[in-house]
Amino acid sequence: MLTLRARIIFTFIGVVTISVVIAFIIYSLAFSGPTMRHYQEEGLESSAAIVDLYAATNPEDEEAFLNGVAQIMQAHLRLYDADGSFREYGDPDTQTNLSLNKEEIASILGGQQLVKTLEGYSCDCEQVTGIRLDIHDQPYALIVIPIPQREYYTVPMILGIVLAVGSGLLLFASRYLVRPVLQLTAAARQMSKGNLQVRLPDTRRRDEIGVMSRTFNGMAEQLERLDVMRQQFVSNVSHELQSPLTAMKGFASMLRSASLDKQDTDRALRIIHEESDRLSRLSDNLLMLATLDAGRCPIDPDPIQLDEQLRRAVLMLEPLWDSKRLIMDVQLPSITIEGNSALLEQVWINLLGNAIKYTAEDGTISVTCDLDPKHIAISITDNGIGIPPDALDRIFERFYKVDDSRNRSIEGNGLGLAIVRHIVLLHNGSLKVESTPGVGSTFTVVLERTYS
Ligand code: ADP
Repeated sequence: MLTLRARIIFTFIGVVTISVVIAFIIYSLAFSGPTMRHYQEEGLESSAAIVDLYAATNPEDEEAFLNGVAQIMQAHLRLYDADGSFREYGDPDTQTNLSLNKEEIASILGGQQLVKTLEGYSCDCEQVTGIRLDIHDQPYALIVIPIPQREYYTVPMILGIVLAVGSGLLLFASRYLVRPVLQLTAAARQMSKGNLQVRLPDTRRRDEIGVMSRTFNGMAEQLERLDVMRQQFVSNVSHELQSPLTAMKGFASMLRSASLDKQDTDRALRIIHEESDRLSRLSDNLLMLATLDAGRCPIDPDPIQLDEQLRRAVLMLEPLWDSKRLIMDVQLPSITIEGNSALLEQVWINLLGNAIKYTAEDGTISVTCDLDPKHIAISITDNGIGIPPDALDRIFERFYKVDDSRNRSIEGNGLGLAIVRHIVLLHNGSLKVESTPGVGSTFTVVLERTYS
C-alpha cells in the first residue's frame, strides 16, 4: 500500500511529466510549422547574401572570405566541387553527418537552391541550405550548415531541473503535510485504548488540516465530557440506591431483635415500606429516562383534552396536597392539543408533585394557561420554598437536587425535572422556570397545539 507521502510525490512527478509532454506536443503542433518555414526562408536568404557579397567584393582569398563568413554567421560551410569532393570552413569541431548525393550537387551547380533537414539535430527547424557560388568562374555548391543553438536544450533542461528540485523539495515538504495525519492516527489509537484526554497540538492553520485537528479536539472534549457524565451517572445511581438499602437493612435487623415493642415495630415496617417505595420510584424513573434516551418513545400524536388531563393529574395527587391542606386553583378553558398522552401526563404529575413537595402546609398551587393560535403555555405556580438563582440552570440535570437544609426531609431522586425536560423537548416544546426563594416558583411548559 502506498503511503500518503509517496502518493503526494508520485502525483507531483506525474503531473509535471504529463504537463511537460503536453506542452511539447502543443508547442510542436502550434509553432514548429511556422518556425520551420521561417528558418527555411532565413537560410535561403543568408546563403544568397553570401553569394551576393562574394560577387560584390570578389575577394582574392576565398578561404579567408568563407572562414570569416562562417564565423559571422555562426555556421559551418562546405564547398563542393562538381566531382563531389568538398572543403569545410568555420569551427572544425562541429560534427555534421551531412551527406549530399551527386544529383543534389548537380542540381545546385545547375542553379537550383537546396533546402535539407539535417538528421540528428535536436530541432528540425535547423535547415541546411545549398546555393551555387562561382569562384574564379568555377561553379561550386556552397552548403550553409547552421551550428545547433544551445537554446533548443534550455527548455527541457529547465523542466528537468524543476522536476528534480521539485521532487527533492516535495520529499521534505510532504513530511509536514503528512505529519498531522500521522498525529491524528496516533491520537485516535490512544483514544481507542481509553485515553480520552489525548489532544492534537493547537494549530492556527485555517486549511482542511487545521479544521480536521480542531474537529478532532472538539470530538475528544465531547467524549471526555460524556465519559465524566457517565461516571457521575453511575455514582449517582449507586448513591441513590445505597441510602434506601442501608435504611432497609438497618430496620430489618432491628425487627429481628425480640425486644422491640409494637410502636417500634410499626415504625420500622413503615420505614422499610417507604424506602422500598423510593427504590421503586427510582427504578421507574431510570427506566423512563433510558427509554427516552434510546428514542424508543415515539410521540405517535393523539388529540388530548389537555384541561381534563391536568385535572385528572391534580385529582390523582389529592392525597398529597390534601394532607398538607394546600389550595389547588385550576383555571383552565377547554384545550385540545396533539401529543403523547402518557408522556404528557408524566410531565404534569412531576411538576405538580414538585409543587406539592416544595410548598409548605396551607400554601396555594395554581394551574393556568395562556393560548395563542399555535401554542399553549401551561403554568404551574406555587408559593413554596423557591429555588436559589444559582441552582435555576441546573435543576433540569439528572440527579441534581438543590442542597438546601430546608428540603432535606423532602423525598426526591433528582430525576423528575430531567424527565419533564426530555418529554417537552420530544414534543418540540420549551420549558421555563421563574423562582424566588421564600416566595415561590412558576414552571411554564409551552407546547405546539398541533404536533409537527
Ligand atoms: P426531585 O425528585 O428531587 O424533586 P426534580 O428533578 O424534580 O427532583 O427537581 C430537582 C430539584 O429542583 C429538586 O431537588 C428541588 O430542589 C428543585 N425543585 C423542583 N421543583 C421545585 C419547586 N416547585 N419548588 C422548589 N424547588 C423545586
